Amino acid sequence: MTKFIKFLFLCIITSFTINAQNTVIKAGHFYDSRNGKMLENQIIVIKQGKIKEVGTNPKFSKNDKIIDLSDSWVLPGLMDCHVHVTSNTAHLQRNSITTNYVRESNALRAIRGSVVAKQFLDNGFTTIKEIGNDGNYATADIIKAIKYGWIKGPTIIYAGKIIAPFGGQTKNINPDNEGLWQFEYIDADTPDEIKKAVRKNIYYGATVIKMVTGDNGTYNEEDIKAAVDEAQKYGIKVTVHVVTEGIAATNAILGGAAAIEHGDNLNDEQLQLMKDKGVFLVGTDFSYDNNFAYGVGEKTAREWTDQLVDRLKRAYKIGTPMAFGTDIIIDLPGLNRVQSSLKVLETWKAAEIPASYILQTMTIKAAELLGIDKERGILEPTYYADIIAVKNNPLKDIESINTVHFVMKEGEIIRNDKK
Ligand SMILES: [Zn+2]
Repeated sequence: MTKFIKFLFLCIITSFTINAQNTVIKAGHFYDSRNGKMLENQIIVIKQGKIKEVGTNPKFSKNDKIIDLSDSWVLPGLMDCHVHVTSNTAHLQRNSITTNYVRESNALRAIRGSVVAKQFLDNGFTTIKEIGNDGNYATADIIKAIKYGWIKGPTIIYAGKIIAPFGGQTKNINPDNEGLWQFEYIDADTPDEIKKAVRKNIYYGATVIKMVTGDNGTYNEEDIKAAVDEAQKYGIKVTVHVVTEGIAATNAILGGAAAIEHGDNLNDEQLQLMKDKGVFLVGTDFSYDNNFAYGVGEKTAREWTDQLVDRLKRAYKIGTPMAFGTDIIIDLPGLNRVQSSLKVLETWKAAEIPASYILQTMTIKAAELLGIDKERGILEPTYYADIIAVKNNPLKDIESINTVHFVMKEGEIIRNDKK
């Protein structure tokens, strides 16, 4: 009897699986991120959250759910490799980010982060790298809430607390308040302390390690290597913030970092070394408006952006691997976080980087850096169905990715304005 019930149950499950409805997207224009080319009239068949087939004539049933995007440009979900969803300094009006530590609780940070994470998803970013400065591991709870299905959000590659030489990125904290920065940073000044910090972050949910060097002290090559070796045991990568000139970036590159974040002052030799070692640049290329929002004045904002345009141009010419990252923590007037972040595209355009290459840095190249290039970033069979659509051709004007009207995350429709 029991065997018979089991058999019956199996039959029901099997017939359900066979008859399960697939989703079919008719894509008028289709971005092939592997080759950086736009294809015409492709059909994508999606089954249980993953892509089953893609082509001009794949088989599908008339019972399948059809989504008609024949007048749209269909792309893999975008990726931003440098975001801080729980941070916003706009309302602090030029006060130091340190002020946040006493004014904003971890709970408030997590609530903001869940709202911003959803903005990323709704505007086409199906994967983000959350890169620290998120309070006392606030994002770890956002990731849990997404996993539990309480809220919707992108896939989040998560850094936990930033590992840095004593003092984090703060300046001028008086000794009576020593350690205030530990709300968001782990002080680590020797290879052993660095290894312990890596383990602590992983314990609290980190899936990438972020280090800062050159701000308050500079890590040696051995220091970076200690983090890289420890992280490697857990199959995760180390990324390093460097904004200063000189040895800090070289140590990070030779120490085995997967990426340099910012790299404002990288010289040609360092960009070449990154190419040789396969180290990515996550440039966070602020536009004039993004820089001006920091209250630095017109001249300085212009100079900073010009410097980034020059660095982007040199990196592209040399062939340094690049992944798209924005780093925006000030929402511009009238714009949400993603719209404010996409202002960095003005800098990419000013550097005359081809739109197709920029799209690759937002998809296949970002996926490679994040270690998820076998699962996401390309629309091919077995990949997750992270799919978006925009109204205008992004190869003609990259800023048309601001016109996302359809978002699918692992086969689930998050947004479809045409319905
Ligand atoms: Zn940042």
